Amino acid sequence: MTDPSIAENFDAVRARMDEAAKSAGRAMNDTSLVAISKKQPEPRIAAALEYGHRLFGENRVQEAQERWADRRADYPDLELRLVGPLQSNKTGDAVALFDVIETLDREKLAKTIVKEADKQGRMPRLYVQINTGEEDQKAGISPADADAFLETVRETHGLPVEGLMCIPPVGEAPAMHFALLAKIARRNGLDKLSMGMSGDYETAIRYGATSVRVGSALFGERP
Ligand SMILES: *Cc1c(COP(=O)(O)O)cnc(C)c1O
Repeated sequence: MTDPSIAENFDAVRARMDEAAKSAGRAMNDTSLVAISKKQPEPRIAAALEYGHRLFGENRVQEAQERWADRRADYPDLELRLVGPLQSNKTGDAVALFDVIETLDREKLAKTIVKEADKQGRMPRLYVQINTGEEDQKAGISPADADAFLETVRETHGLPVEGLMCIPPVGEAPAMHFALLAKIARRNGLDKLSMGMSGDYETAIRYGATSVRVGSALFGERP
């Protein structure tokens, strides 16, 4: 048995995304919906797959392996994204499992990714996480260091960075953080922006998000 409300939630979020794109004068299919499945009960994930959704994000490598590794064979068009911090000692597992790593945030990790990608013959697509709010407790490169970091990982380490990702501080208006991320991306020639969650994905679309990471609005509150 699957939960019919999951399909309704997907339809509702998609409708709001289309509305936000339209009001921003953007094309409706410019923004991908990354369904954040972390900590969600299994039946909700099954319902999303049954609905036809194939693009998911997780914030922990081990949890993602348990949930997704065996499923890959059944869903060849599945795309998995890591949206949580990556410890260096988990890099091998992350490179093996994820199609996209959105949380590249230090040079040591860049080196480890290169090493693992060479070893495994598989290079995930990469985003650099920017700590737009310069919060001590949050991962990410500070905005002032972003250009130099991007140059290092692209030029020195040869990594194919595709875009930027941010998580605005809780309790602050997200718009200025989204605008800042877009500005850093633009001046570095990057056109992918991962920004916006359940509470602010429409704002993110107005500021140019090419993917939004939505969890609870699709699946309900995490238990
Ligand atoms: C959990 C999480 C989300 C989704 O949060 P919701 O508020 O449930 O939509 C998005 N991005 C990251 C990085 C997360 O860890």
